[in-house]
Amino acid sequence: MERVRFAPSPTGHLHIGGARTALFNYLYAKHSGGKFILRIEDTDLNRSTAESEKAIIEGLKWFGINWDEGIEVGGPHGPYRSTERNFIYEPFVKKLIEEGKAYYCYCSEEEIEAERQEALKKGETPKYSGRCRNLTDEERKKLEAKGIKPVVRFRVPDNEPIIIDDIVRGRVEFNTNDIGDFIIVKSDGIPVYNFAVVIDDHLMEITTVIRGEEHLSNTPRQILIYKALGFDMPKFAHVSLILGKDRTKMSKRHGSTWVEQYRDAGYLPEALINFLVLLGWSPEGDEEIFSLEELCEKFSLDRVVKNPAVFDIDKLNHINGIYIRKSPIDRIVDLSIPYLVNAGYITDEFAKRNRDWITLLVLTFRERISYLSEIVEHASILFNDEVKFEDEEAATVLKQDHVGRLLDELYDIVKTSDKFDNEFIQNIFKELKNRTGAKGKSLFMPVRVALTGQIHGAELVNIIELLGKDKVLKRIEYTKKNLL
Ligand code: GLU
Repeated sequence: MERVRFAPSPTGHLHIGGARTALFNYLYAKHSGGKFILRIEDTDLNRSTAESEKAIIEGLKWFGINWDEGIEVGGPHGPYRSTERNFIYEPFVKKLIEEGKAYYCYCSEEEIEAERQEALKKGETPKYSGRCRNLTDEERKKLEAKGIKPVVRFRVPDNEPIIIDDIVRGRVEFNTNDIGDFIIVKSDGIPVYNFAVVIDDHLMEITTVIRGEEHLSNTPRQILIYKALGFDMPKFAHVSLILGKDRTKMSKRHGSTWVEQYRDAGYLPEALINFLVLLGWSPEGDEEIFSLEELCEKFSLDRVVKNPAVFDIDKLNHINGIYIRKSPIDRIVDLSIPYLVNAGYITDEFAKRNRDWITLLVLTFRERISYLSEIVEHASILFNDEVKFEDEEAATVLKQDHVGRLLDELYDIVKTSDKFDNEFIQNIFKELKNRTGAKGKSLFMPVRVALTGQIHGAELVNIIELLGKDKVLKRIEYTKKNLL
């Protein structure tokens, strides 16, 4: 049975790249009837925070990506947080030291830095010199007597090829000569990621490691540890980076990079999932819109491509728009209310009392939005009572000769009616046409501009219904007085 894991370091928000890694792992597990595990890799004590862990967990839950084992849910291989696993790592470190495959190193950071600078000056890749490789017990004791706390370094064998048969990247070859003896335990006794990850993946019986390409350079070190401890190796799949449109690594410069930012802007989790899966994976046919269940059925690593994926916000907007329009309207109403409340247009209390009205509002504008917070701008025409022309063209629409008369008749029709339902509003235009002879564009456009300041927009009948009788009358008065 396949067992895969998402192993985020809790050093920030859930990044879209991380979310994609989690998704690929999840889909791979579900597709093969395997297990998906969530492990928190908080080996970097200075940068790991509880808030970050919480944010990552919340992000995954928001997506509906659930895990079978791991943080919060438990399982047979816990604990699932690296810092709680020190007692598990210790015997393995000891074993490597006893077998001479790792050793204590007493070099100070300054010494290492000086060596590094020296190498860089010579144009060489910095690599630990191996000064502490062969210390005698006596030499060690002396250094320890000085109170120096050692790190533990892995003894990298000379001139050995390391071959990764990567599911995505194919054969990737490294040579141990390019890798210096690397630290596996820091002087505070905490193992580094490259060591802990091997022990964890081994003990958690991980069969396939699916992670970002940025980890590819870590993999040869990890393979050396697998070999040194006699562990079976998992399969590896390093998924290509996500690039911005300018083909450099996706970063803040390109826009939002955290899942939270997309959630807050009003992207739907299933739309973001659908978009993320297409960053690297390609489905068989032309269809690109898939639910999470469909993806579980279709996903496979052999359709994950090696070339980097480009993050195209227009595509995300397009996909999100599709999901917004096909979701049950009640859900979209619930999700839209906070944006309207935040904009100061309505209160929660108002939303509760006027559910039908808000529903009509959302129905009217959801055709035109890509993400939910955009509803604020569209709906603003309902709340700002001073009609403003959106541009010069709008102003010229009202300059036509027949407009004064048209607005007078409109005012009269609305004012003298007791009713103001959808049917009545539809009939307004027939009546206006009868009374003034205006039709088509010259009928609808001046009415729209007079009431909203815009030439184009959402369904006019709906807008009139949403404005309500009083506002319609007030706006006609305002426009006649100020804008004609
Ligand atoms: N903790 C690593 C990260 O957040 C993931 C390492 C891995 O998947 O092996 O980038």
